[in-house]
Amino acid sequence: MAAITRHLTNRTYPISSLTRRCLSSALPSETNNSHAPPYSSFHLKPRVPPPEDLKNKHVQWVFLGCPGVGKGTYASRLSNLIGVPHIATGDLLREQLASSTSLSSQLSETVKQGQLVSDEVIISLLSKRLTAGEAKGESGFILDGFPRTVKQAEILEGVTEIDLVINLKLREDVLLEKCLGRRICSQCGGNFNVASININAENGNPGIIMAPLLPPANCMSKLTTRSDDTEVVVKERLRIYNEMSRPVEEFYRIRGKLLEFDLPGGIPESWPKLLQALNLYDYEDKQPATA
Ligand SMILES: [Zn+2]
Repeated sequence: MAAITRHLTNRTYPISSLTRRCLSSALPSETNNSHAPPYSSFHLKPRVPPPEDLKNKHVQWVFLGCPGVGKGTYASRLSNLIGVPHIATGDLLREQLASSTSLSSQLSETVKQGQLVSDEVIISLLSKRLTAGEAKGESGFILDGFPRTVKQAEILEGVTEIDLVINLKLREDVLLEKCLGRRICSQCGGNFNVASININAENGNPGIIMAPLLPPANCMSKLTTRSDDTEVVVKERLRIYNEMSRPVEEFYRIRGKLLEFDLPGGIPESWPKLLQALNLYDYEDKQPATA
C-alpha cells in the first residue's frame, strides 16, 4: 500500500506544473535539511523501477557524477532505450552560447573559467526545454547535469518527484586522463577519445580498462580539442564538483533515491552492468555495446 501511495504521489506534479512553478518560483535562500522527509532512515536503498513504470514511461531520473564521467553517454543511451527525453543542461547551455544574445556572451566568460552558471539561468533554460517538450507530448525525463547544487535539488524537489538518481563513479585520475583524451572531429562533429586507460587492480580496488574510441582514418587529421578540456580547467571542474555537487549525492542518499554505480570500465564493460542494475536487462537493446 505504501508503494502505491508513493507511486501516486510521484505523479502529483506533471511537467507542466514544474515548468510553471520554476518560471515563477522564488529560489530558496539557504540550504538546510528542513525538507528532508521523515521516512528517510527507513528508505536508504533506492527503489529500482518495476517494468510497468518503464513501459508507461514513468521515468523521472537524474544522472549524477563528476564532469567527464560519461553521464551524457549513458543518459542518452537509456533515453533511446526507454523512449523518454534526455535533457542535458550542458547542451542547453551550449545552444544558448551558440546564439548571439547578451546572455550568451555573459555565459561564455563563466564557462571559460570553469565556473558554475547561476541557478536562475539554468532553471530558466530547463523550464523552456520542458515546456517545448511538453508541447510535443513528451513523457518523463532523464536529467543530466542538473541538479548540481543542493539548492537546485531543493528547487527540483519542490516542484516534481524524482524517482531515481543514478550516481556514476570513476576514480579522479582516470577521469582526468579521459577528459584530456577527448577529441571532436571538426568536419563531421564526431566525438572520440584517444586516451587508453589500463590500470591494474591494487589494494583491493578492481582494475579499470578503457579502450580509446578512435576515429575513422578520414577524421584523424581533423581532430580538435574542446577549449575547456585543459588540465587546469578539468581539475577546476572536479574541485567545484567536489565542493558543490558532492552534497547533492548526500541529499538523495538520505531520501533513499541514490543508486551508486561504480563504472567498471568503458562502455562495453559498463553498459550491460548498468542495465542489470536498473532492472533493464530484459529490455530489447538494439544498440551495440561499443557504439
Ligand atoms: Zn569526422
